[in-house]
Amino acid sequence: MEIPIAANWIASALEGTDAEVTKPGVLTGELSFQGKTALVRGELAATFCVPCARCLADAPVDAGGELCVHFERGASPRPKRAELDEDEAEEIDPGSPEEFTFDGITLDLRPVLIEHLVMSYPIRTLCAQGEACRGLCLSCGANLNSQAANGQGCTACKAREEQQAAASEAPAGNPDWQAALLKLRGKS
Ligand SMILES: [Zn+2]
Ligand SMILES: [Zn+2]
Repeated sequence: MEIPIAANWIASALEGTDAEVTKPGVLTGELSFQGKTALVRGELAATFCVPCARCLADAPVDAGGELCVHFERGASPRPKRAELDEDEAEEIDPGSPEEFTFDGITLDLRPVLIEHLVMSYPIRTLCAQGEACRGLCLSCGANLNSQAANGQGCTACKAREEQQAAASEAPAGNPDWQAALLKLRGKS
């Protein structure tokens, strides 16, 4: 089986996050039955972008991965982890395939996909620059990755500082300017 997954569906699964989804995904895999159990084994291909933790540029996230889901026909829904007390929660082996229920006719893969997509949302991601990302200048917000690396911080800020320093030095170092100022003062 090959199930295309629309980009806006992925976006809705990640609603409330700052993920940006531009490409559709696809789920490929096999469906097999064994008594009351339906087993879906497959591979999800999906990507989305989140802002780089340092420079806010698009950082791609691979949300794909293997899926292995058991669907139990007509069984009572699997209790949510949060609803169990600690001892019970420990009894659920995290290594076992996910278990869901189905009505014997339809397998709803949506909860599985949503869980997978949400789990793949990273806590912190860097852009294509990786650890070399220099981030944003703390005083002017310029993206330091777009400036030539000189080991001295932000070149835009440095240029501005130099300009300001030059401007404030001007009166003392420029007798013409001082004379003009005196003239102006005399007139008023
Ligand atoms: Zn970055
Ligand atoms: Zn700056």
